[in-house]
Formats: sequence, C-alpha cells, structure tokens
Amino acid sequence: MTSATPGEAIGESADLLVVGAGPAGAAAAAHAADRGSDVILLDAAVFPRDKTCGDGLTPRAVAGLQRLGMASLLDDRPRIRGLELNGWGTRRRVDWPGANRFGAYGSAIARTELDDAVRRSAVDRGARMVSGAKAIGAQMVGGRIESVTVTREGRRHQIRVRDVIVADGVRSGLGRSLGRQWHRDTAFGVAARSYADSDRADSEWMGSHLELRDPAGDLLPGYGWVFPLGNGTVNVGVGALATDKRPASMALRPILEHYAAMVGDDWRLTSPPRAIASALLPMGGAVSGVAGANWMLIGDAAACVNPLNGEGIDYAIETAALAVAMLDDENDYSTAWPALLRREYGTAFAAARRAAGLLTVPQTVPLLGRPGIRSPRLMSTVVRVMGNLLTPDDADLIARAWRSAGRVTARLEDRPPFS
Ligand SMILES: Cc1cc2nc3c(=O)[nH]c(=O)nc-3n(C[C@H](O)[C@H](O)[C@H](O)COP(=O)(O)OP(=O)(O)OC[C@H]3O[C@@H](n4cnc5c(N)ncnc54)[C@H](O)[C@@H]3O)c2cc1C
Repeated sequence: MTSATPGEAIGESADLLVVGAGPAGAAAAAHAADRGSDVILLDAAVFPRDKTCGDGLTPRAVAGLQRLGMASLLDDRPRIRGLELNGWGTRRRVDWPGANRFGAYGSAIARTELDDAVRRSAVDRGARMVSGAKAIGAQMVGGRIESVTVTREGRRHQIRVRDVIVADGVRSGLGRSLGRQWHRDTAFGVAARSYADSDRADSEWMGSHLELRDPAGDLLPGYGWVFPLGNGTVNVGVGALATDKRPASMALRPILEHYAAMVGDDWRLTSPPRAIASALLPMGGAVSGVAGANWMLIGDAAACVNPLNGEGIDYAIETAALAVAMLDDENDYSTAWPALLRREYGTAFAAARRAAGLLTVPQTVPLLGRPGIRSPRLMSTVVRVMGNLLTPDDADLIARAWRSAGRVTARLEDRPPFS
C-alpha cells in the first residue's frame, strides 16, 4: 500500500500540487495538465487501489467523464436507464428524466478501475504522479502555502508550490491541518458496500430499496442498493443517515448481509456478499475552511456529496473542473472558492440536507415512503433529486420549487453550506 512505484521521483516544485488521486484529484490534475500547468499528483496509496463505494455513476457523473474525454471507459459497462425503486410492497421503475441536460444514461464501474483510469489519463496528459507518498503538512509564508511536506518510505520531502488542490477525501488530513472543519450537526452518511456474483449483472436498472430494515425488522433511515457492474458482479450496499443528535449506531455488516439475503432471489445472486467495507460520508457542503489564498478543497474533502443518496463522484469531477478554472481567474481563493461552491450547490444542498435531517427522525420514513412510492409523479421527482439531475439552469416547476425550498432553508440555517 505504501511502497512507491518504481521510477516516480518526487519533484522539488510544481505550479500545482494536487493531493489525492481519487476522481476529484485525478480529474483536477488532468484538466490542469491540459492547460499546460506543471502538475504533481500525489497519493498516499499505490494504484490500482480500492475505495469503499457503491460504484454507481449517475448521468451527471457519466457526463463528467465524457468531458474528460473518457466516455469509452464505459463502453462494455451497463447502460443504466434509471432507478428500480422498491418499498412497502411496491416496485416502480423510473427512467432518468429525459429532459436532464447531462445525458440519458448512467453506469457503474468498480472504483479500483475507475480511479486508476482517471489517474492514468492525468499522467498521459503530462501530470507527474507520485504514489505511496503522504502529504503531512504545509509551510505557510504570508498566508500562502509555500511548500508541502510529504513522506514516502520513511523519508521526508518538501515540494514548493504555487497552488494546491486538496482532494484527500472524507477525512481530509491535509485539509484539517489547514483549518477545514466538518460539522456533524447536519446530516451525514454511514454506508457499507460489498460485491456479489449475479446473473442480473447486466441489468439496465439500479436497484434501490427505500424501505431498509435491520435483521430484527426495524425500519432504518436509509436505503439499500444493488448496482450492476456488468461483469457478472453487482455492488450491494446499505447506507443510513445520521446527525450528532441522532447518531446511526447500528452495525452495518449484519444489516448488509440481511439486505443481500432479501434481494438475493430478485437479483439472482449466486454468491454471498464479499469484500464488505464501510465508511462515513460528509454531505451537503457541511464543512468550513474550504479555501485559503492559494489552496482549495474539492470533492469529499469539501463535503460535496448528495445528502439524499450519498453520491459524490459527479461532484468530485465537477469541482475539479471548477477549481482548475479558478486557478486562471483569481489570485486569492479564500472567499472566491466558497462563494462559487455556494452558487453552484448551496441551495440544493441546503434543501437536501434539511430533508435528510428529517429522514433521521424514525417516523418520517414510513410517513413519506409508503404513499410516496405509490405516486409515479413523486417518484419521478425523487429520481431527479436522487440522481442529482437538477441544476441552477433548470426552469421547470419542480426545479424552481426545489430551489425555493433551498433558499428558504438556507435563510433559516445558522450556518449555510461551505461556511
Ligand atoms: C459506502 C459508500 C458508497 C458510495 N457510493 C457511491 C456511488 O454509488 N456513487 C457515487 O457517485 N458516490 C458514492 N459514494 C461517494 C464517493 O465514494 C465519493 O464521493 C468519492 O470517492 C469522492 O472522491 P474524492 O476524489 O473526493 O475522494 P477519494 O475517492 O476518497 O480519494 C481521496 C484520495 O486521497 C488520498 N489521500 C488521502 N489523504 C492523503 C494524504 N495525506 N496524502 C496523499 N494522499 C492522500 C487517498 O489515498 C485517496 O486516494 C459512496 C461512498 C461510500 C462511503
């Protein structure tokens, strides 16, 4: 995990240092290299590496990959046309709304492959990859990062930088050392994934169970998923919402095993779930300290995850492009970057995390879920919101209502997203 890849020297300086080579960091390195910047892309892991995830790509994430010129990566993957929603004795298949501006299909691909492919693409465009190397701190001069300290195989190195993009994921160790704080009074996620063999691995639908129960039959504030990966394998997982006040203290492993047994016949699973792993998810921009004079946090480090479904790959790729564009436009990112994030995602995140907070109240899930799943119109809206397919440019009734809810919520909140 920590041994270096042969031939990768650690450079002494770079125009841009990107810390973390998940989809956020690798996409940022790719975009910056395209613009002719001298980029170092650094990761503590050696690739290919696993990342605990549902591996699902919404049309918005697929569009992000297309913009990176990487659409062919998904050529032999399922073309997913929508969600198969289940709960309270009802099943409803809902296509991604055709009118979304991202594209008609989603997909799914194991993160071991996806992340390595985006990372290799950044290297092909000229980024210098340094793997097995951990960023452990930054030296500040006049309020700017002058250099970043990196350790690899027990040795310390300094990399002098002009700009730093911090894409080091959920816990964001480097971000924390720069002042990033994760606020858990608004909803966050706890989720577990696994892999299983399936005869339905080429399905055109992402399975989603809104009525998630533990082995004792108690209803949980979360959902279960089965995402078809197209190579005889599906990703099976469960996720739950929590807040400081209402922590999700459940053990996820037995819930996942129970869920896999429940969906086993339907998804024609031919093996028990394996490689079970769980992780936390910061959501809805619930972090402060996302930028300084010459550094910006992107992806999970900036809590850019949809509070209603835990999906963050599309935001990772999008925030990468936005941050790289800002490198050219601004000299100081301290206020410009959180302001841009709020403009892009603030109202939707405010509404979604308020709704997610409500779902952590035990009575809310059946109250909304039972009648909701019987209404095709409501479920189509749910798919639009869960698929993250509403944008600031959409002008239809649902989009306007969702944005109004976000604006009202943002005004009611003590602490808006990214502050
Ligand atoms: C169980 C689960 C299921 C999920 N399912 C989905 C899904 O189906 N679809 C979806 O879109 N999203 C899903 N998500 C969310 C998604 O996984 C994240 O939003 C996404 O990985 C964010 O990408 P990132 O590049 O910001 O961070 P990451 O992918 O976490 O990458 C961060 C990288 O930084 C590196 N790093 C960390 N610290 C350092 C350091 N100090 N120095 C150097 N490198 C460092 C790490 O090694 C890692 O490679 C899920 C999350 C969980 C937990």
